[in-house]
Amino acid sequence: MTDNSTCTTERPAGDPVSAFTSLAGLGPQSAGAYGPGASFAVLPPRRAGMGRQEPLPAEYRTLSDDELDQRIAQARAHLGDRLVILGHHYQRDEIIRFADFRGDSFKLSQLAAERHDAEYIVFCGVHFMAESADILSAPHQQVILPNLTAGCSMADMANLEDVEECWDTLTEVCGDRTIPVTYMNSAADLKAFCGENGGIVCTSSNAPALVRWAMARGQRVLFFPDEHLGRNTAHRLGIGREVVWNPRLALGDNTAEALRAAKIVLWKGFCSVHDRFTTAQIAQARADYPDVRVIVHPECRREVVAAADLDGSTEVIIQAIEAAPPGTTWAVGTEVNLVRRLAAEHPDQQIFCLDPIVCPCSTMYRIHPAYLCWVLENLVEGRVVNQVSVDPRTRYWSQVALERMLELGN
Ligand code: SF4
Repeated sequence: MTDNSTCTTERPAGDPVSAFTSLAGLGPQSAGAYGPGASFAVLPPRRAGMGRQEPLPAEYRTLSDDELDQRIAQARAHLGDRLVILGHHYQRDEIIRFADFRGDSFKLSQLAAERHDAEYIVFCGVHFMAESADILSAPHQQVILPNLTAGCSMADMANLEDVEECWDTLTEVCGDRTIPVTYMNSAADLKAFCGENGGIVCTSSNAPALVRWAMARGQRVLFFPDEHLGRNTAHRLGIGREVVWNPRLALGDNTAEALRAAKIVLWKGFCSVHDRFTTAQIAQARADYPDVRVIVHPECRREVVAAADLDGSTEVIIQAIEAAPPGTTWAVGTEVNLVRRLAAEHPDQQIFCLDPIVCPCSTMYRIHPAYLCWVLENLVEGRVVNQVSVDPRTRYWSQVALERMLELGN
């Protein structure tokens, strides 16, 4: 089974395998620990709406890489136009090679909305993405997530109960209007909360325009679940009065006066991948490669974005590298599977991951080829396993929030 979990660019250091196993909570086991057996053994916290992953049948756990490739290709060919496979940029190559389309979460959801000819949408990404695809898909379509334990650590940092409590507190303490804005990387019930309460969904590309839209409709913005994207957006817009809301503490660990004065309330959440990038890594890259261009994702900390040359969504990062002349050197602050793929696709440029040790998204990594093989072979047999389905009320209000975003343009 191929180990695709670590940065293998030209700047390796430390002990990447143990760093990854620690990050993923898998323990220092054999290469098999990265496989399907380990994935279903490490169950993330349950959230309403997430189904339970049944154990992967034993026969799939022992298949070789070649056997999995052959069986996936066979099932995929059998299903033909009835199936579309969507692959997020952060997926491993063994999955991406079977994707009909690859993109970031928003682009893939749009593709799901456009592909109404396909009966099945197999979404190789994480749970909130499959939910968004289901919300935007047609009634006759079924969305499937190969491994239901593939959640998102950032999305899991904000749940509906805590956000409602924060909202109620802000309303009570401030006595005015706060507009909720949720990042695309959030559960469907939070998107629905925004739809129902005059708010909106944003992406990492359109966050500045949509936060400006929200600021015009209330006294402040409640931005969740990513503190860093919220702060980077506020900085870009020149919004100075910000506070951070810690859902575990009274008043979010603020005074009532600070809440009343705040123009933006940032939820205390972060991406476990992008939070790892540091200004020290940027300084090291500049010392090693004086001509290096540093590009990072806006889910990185404020000081990291400030120290970089460019920042943008995964699509922006890809476009910047595609447009660069041969000989350009890049240090990239985003998930390593994408960085490695960019390095392979642009051999005329020098491209490496800013984090020299390890920076995979461990939950994306739960989409192992064995799970993809399992769901596809079930479809061939006429069985739908691992369907992700959003209830009608949540779907309705999520669509309201998403359509507000689409009306404003991405
Ligand atoms: S990279 Fe970060 S935001 Fe994206 S799915 Fe992984 S944990 Fe979530």
